[in-house]
Amino acid sequence: MGRASELARALSAGDLIILPTETVYGLAADAASPAAVAQLYEAKGRPRFNPLISHVGDLDAALGIADLDDRARVLANAFWPGPLTIVAPYRMGGGVCDLARAGLNTVAVRVPAHPLARQVLKAFGGPIVAPSANRSGRPSPTTFADAMAETGAFTAAALDGGPCPVGLESTVVALLDGPPRLLRPGAVTRAVMEALIGPLAEAEADAKRSPGRLTRHYAPSAPVRLAAGAPAPGEAYLAFGPAPEGPHVFNLSPSRDLAEAATRLFTYLRAADALAPRAIAVAPIPEEGLGEAINDRLRRAAGFVG
Ligand code: AMP
Ligand code: MG
Repeated sequence: MGRASELARALSAGDLIILPTETVYGLAADAASPAAVAQLYEAKGRPRFNPLISHVGDLDAALGIADLDDRARVLANAFWPGPLTIVAPYRMGGGVCDLARAGLNTVAVRVPAHPLARQVLKAFGGPIVAPSANRSGRPSPTTFADAMAETGAFTAAALDGGPCPVGLESTVVALLDGPPRLLRPGAVTRAVMEALIGPLAEAEADAKRSPGRLTRHYAPSAPVRLAAGAPAPGEAYLAFGPAPEGPHVFNLSPSRDLAEAATRLFTYLRAADALAPRAIAVAPIPEEGLGEAINDRLRRAAGFVG
């Protein structure tokens, strides 16, 4: 608990920290502090209209900042702690500043599962905003080293939690008036949520509010070529399934396991990019289960509008 209280103190002092979560590494700040949140946007180089996810310790704490309806509670009970973010009406006075919500009367909330994130939340005692620790528009960091290289310079303290077990951002689902809407596909798949609360609508109308929905989000420097059966000369290759090995080949999952591919996606995009290839070619990934989220990130890395 020693390190966790050190990080909690840094948050209380208005400083930024690097926080491991099960999805990706977060750049975290006190959600109640507009000054800390402003510093966070600045460190990420992120457009200010993008609202942030508030991380809390448990369902009770979530109910302190958000009005969760029956559907939201069903999802919360099923997937918290875990990689599901719920957008719900903000409970005024809940301690998430306007800047963290980008002025919206809604709030995005999640209970993370990573033991270190949970320790820091417990020691801090209030909501923590923690977008991915990359600079805006770059792939999310899934290792401590990548997180430090991206935004470590802006932080007062950092915690190494090892490689992120999920490796993909949380699923974002909106439970407001009307049908539930999938704002961002992620680690919790559409199918498992639909089994519990019925059909999810797509929410392209929210595109401007969701940074994960901007073109060229998660983008490496090299161009990305999708659905490539094999690499062309000079290209790095992200394979999926049995493939020839080579210095420029990164296999997301030789056994075609989508969960394994998710944990490796951003690490391999970065590793491939570091070779300064002509392009990063990516094997076709099936659009099922976690494949929906993986393909969503890949299309954005390639610069296609979602
Ligand atoms: P990240 O920066 O990876 O933590 O992503 C936060 C995600 O949650 C983005 O897709 C945001 O647009 C979305 N989000 C956060 N708050 C809200 C909100 N109040 N309404 C809609 N989307 C939100
Ligand atoms: Mg991000």
